[in-house]
Amino acid sequence: MRWALQAGPFAGGAIPAVNRVDAPCPAAPGGARDPAAIPVVRGDDISSASRGSRGAPQTGVGRVRARRSAPALIALLALLSVPRTAAPQALPSELTVFGINVLIGGTTSGLAALVTDRPVLPAVGKGLAGGSVVYLGKRLSNAGGFPMSGLVGRMVASTGTSFVRNGAAGRGLFDFMVFPFGPITIYKRPAGDRSHAPIKLHLARTAVLAALILRDDIRIDWESTLQSGAPVFDMTEGSFHGGHNWVAAGTTLCGSVVLSDLTMLPHVDPTRLLTHERIHVIQDDFADFAWTGPLEYRLLGHFPGGKWLRRYVDVGLLHVGVVGVAHIVIPYEQRPWEIEAEHFEHLAP
Ligand SMILES: [Zn+2]
Repeated sequence: MRWALQAGPFAGGAIPAVNRVDAPCPAAPGGARDPAAIPVVRGDDISSASRGSRGAPQTGVGRVRARRSAPALIALLALLSVPRTAAPQALPSELTVFGINVLIGGTTSGLAALVTDRPVLPAVGKGLAGGSVVYLGKRLSNAGGFPMSGLVGRMVASTGTSFVRNGAAGRGLFDFMVFPFGPITIYKRPAGDRSHAPIKLHLARTAVLAALILRDDIRIDWESTLQSGAPVFDMTEGSFHGGHNWVAAGTTLCGSVVLSDLTMLPHVDPTRLLTHERIHVIQDDFADFAWTGPLEYRLLGHFPGGKWLRRYVDVGLLHVGVVGVAHIVIPYEQRPWEIEAEHFEHLAP
């Protein structure tokens, strides 16, 4: 996901504009330290301003000649994107965003019940309720809202995601709950259910977290992490760029948020940027735990040792693969998750 913004002078050279790149849960990075070894990749041209967004503090859209090397982590993400011409379009209304969230919840549960030969109507009802709660979580996660809004919003959204998953599986609304925290996920299970351990390690999230922690040019922001309910990292200097000289202001990787050194991007509003990334974290949770997670759980049961593994570990590889393909085949301006994140971003003060 990318966002181009007008920016002021850039350390090391006059840079006319910057562009944000972010994407949910890419392939785990290799943790390359040598900037020179990082490939140059292609970026996209799109922005809040170009969408005709409301009240954006940033102005202008353009490309930037980045003087700094991009981390491999971000380069991998950018490789998933397809360059195209930005097409201005209006952001959806609040009612539309709410309706789509509700519809996605109901459709997810209903289709899953249909293919597993369970009663469809109760599943759809729970899915609709879950979609409503997911929307509420996104609405609460505004970085300009109350203290701990990100944590509260993510937990509320996770409750909604759990409703959808319960509807799909024919369980009671609160029977099975998932709450992601950094590299682990807390599972609240029905009485007597031993299918999942109460705390499971999420391999994809862990791999990304480890790669970020090991980098010496990125440090964790504990306050933002606590406020957001998700790991938030800051680049200590410079900005990563997503290829063909696109500078990125922020990105979301498997539930972790990485922000460029915003002192070098004076036109980027940190509150809106963080709000945008928090929405991606919630979207990532939903896609993982309502869509790919249950399917991956079933698939693992067909492999030797898979039944043991899936009790203690969420692998997340299927999720990474699906997200990667989605980024390859869907142009930026048509990505629903990006449009939604921009919608919520502009509700920030
Ligand atoms: Zn985005």
